[in-house]
Amino acid sequence: MAFESLASKLQATFQKLRGKGKLTEDDVKQAMREVRIALLEADVNLKVVKEFVEKVRERAVGSEVLQSLTPGQQVIKIVNDELTALMGGTQSRLAQAAKPPTVVLMVGLQGAGKTTTTGKLGLQLVKMQKRPLLVACDVYRPAAIKQLQVLGEQLKIPVFAMGDQVRPVEIAKAAIEHARVHGNDYVLVDTAGRLHIDDQLMQELKDLDEALHPSETLLVVDAMTGQDAVNVAESFHQQLQITGLILTKLDGDTRGGAALSVRSVTGCPIKYVGMGEKLDALEPFHPDRMASRILG
Ligand code: GDP
Repeated sequence: MAFESLASKLQATFQKLRGKGKLTEDDVKQAMREVRIALLEADVNLKVVKEFVEKVRERAVGSEVLQSLTPGQQVIKIVNDELTALMGGTQSRLAQAAKPPTVVLMVGLQGAGKTTTTGKLGLQLVKMQKRPLLVACDVYRPAAIKQLQVLGEQLKIPVFAMGDQVRPVEIAKAAIEHARVHGNDYVLVDTAGRLHIDDQLMQELKDLDEALHPSETLLVVDAMTGQDAVNVAESFHQQLQITGLILTKLDGDTRGGAALSVRSVTGCPIKYVGMGEKLDALEPFHPDRMASRILG
């Protein structure tokens, strides 16, 4: 389950605080030491942990907190607020172009879950009464084109493909024209993924970005890879204007380091999280709900 080990450690720490009638500055210090260790063990970025713990400590040792009737509860509330802020504060919704179709570029490394997530996002849009079109632009792996077509059939969402001999920019442009003619209001472009970030991949994504002016460029990263996911997000964001992140495989991520660090490190909002292999297992990301889940 997502955040399992972090959640149980933090809950144990706060259980102790809750039990105490009065808190001293030392109690808070001890609790913050435990929070720090729990976050580091969860693979949260070191700088993020330091800043987080310092912020909470500063607020928590304020006299109005320690002298209140329920100091333990107040400290937990502060942690809850700061965790929420760390993950972006409020929900960041999917953009919608003033004039349809809204073009969404899906980018990421191979294996992160990009193609599956493209299908899942299509399903979310269908549930919102939208008419998405999925576009197969990963021309280097014929299997990827087939994978998207199979997903489209399963989900009953149209897929636009032109095989693997046409340049991605041309495919995407033709797809947008197709969407205009057929009344598709969202165009989700599945781009090539590679094992590592390389110049050719980035150039191709930059070309797509320049040619299409997408409303969203969503980077799909695997939450289970922890700080690697954060580093991948940082590299992509330096080269492309990433507008949002989708963290996949959060269902298998007991630690939660990527989810807790990536917003603060990159400045990009997390828009969705993948919670399983099933095609309906994609959820809009709510920082406040996630914080509450962690604190139990
Ligand atoms: P791509 O190479 O980035 O396009 O990756 P795929 O879309 O082919 O996905 C790789 C694997 O990750 C597949 O087996 C997916 O079912 C799996 N996957 C994707 N998202 C999730 C998720 O949120 N949770 C879990 N458990 N598996 C996922």
